[in-house]
Amino acid sequence: MAIRPFILEPNYDSFFDRAQTGQPAQLRIRLKVTLVPLDPSTAWARSSHAAKLPGSPPGPLPPSHLAASEADFKRGSVVDASAQPVPCRSWLVSEWQDFTRRFKSIVETVWNNQMVFLPTENGDSLSDADFRQLIGNPKVPAHVAGVLEIDLQPTGAGSHAIIEVAHLANPGATFRDRMTRITDESVQYGEHNFTAGRARGIGGKTGQFAAAHEVGHWLRDPGSKVFDHIDRSYAVTLPRAQQDNAQYGRTLGRYYSIMGGGTVVTDHDATPWISRLRRQTPMKLGWMYVHRIDFRRSLSDVSARQKRLLLAAGFLPQILQSGQIP
Ligand SMILES: [Zn+2]
Repeated sequence: MAIRPFILEPNYDSFFDRAQTGQPAQLRIRLKVTLVPLDPSTAWARSSHAAKLPGSPPGPLPPSHLAASEADFKRGSVVDASAQPVPCRSWLVSEWQDFTRRFKSIVETVWNNQMVFLPTENGDSLSDADFRQLIGNPKVPAHVAGVLEIDLQPTGAGSHAIIEVAHLANPGATFRDRMTRITDESVQYGEHNFTAGRARGIGGKTGQFAAAHEVGHWLRDPGSKVFDHIDRSYAVTLPRAQQDNAQYGRTLGRYYSIMGGGTVVTDHDATPWISRLRRQTPMKLGWMYVHRIDFRRSLSDVSARQKRLLLAAGFLPQILQSGQIP
């Protein structure tokens, strides 16, 4: 079986790009997102709406409103993820254009340039022809870079994700985001305190762009409404009062996760890419996730198999021995 170039499904699309000279192979997850500038004056805005299962009929679209000037503002309270009503107003057309651009750029910047997937060849393996598709540079171990692409779509286009965006009437107001409803401030950097370690005397701070975290919830399995927080399955074993804190990471290191309180892609956050790599390549087990920082520390570990394939393809042995990393 050859590597599948793409899988298009109701939860998200994914594409495998073979390595080119000087460019690594990539597994790109493409999430089609419709952002809706929420009309805050509606009954819809005063109630909350969970995500539907991937592939469900879309149902009614959230009410939207764009104002040409401040005189056209509609106002009302929008309910947040904690069921609190928060005063909001309409978006100006110009604000909305800026926001949608920034949303795509922030979410992609947070997720990208972190994920590296290595073929470890335990249990099963790639053919030589498939393995060669992972070599973009003879001096760098064969690997696949993980990429997230946000593909902004107009309303009603059959997106993977529909996200309402409220505009706060009072800048800095507290608003707890959810995957289906964020605010104009969700593309700003915010600090979070790690509180789950308090009983052990461990504290700390992380920073996060809420929009990147909420988009992460949409990288869900086909039969699932949500891609969970990093320690959600652990948290549900705790007393109820501790669950909310613990699901974002039981340790400070795990709290740094995007699907915790931070901006780091951990093993958990990389799960959607691993699951598509296992479906798009013949190798069902052997893919291993490493963070790019750790990958760069091990750049000299070119495998015997890679050297053999390169020699067979006519590369000179000297190239393989120089320790120069571009
Ligand atoms: Zn969350």
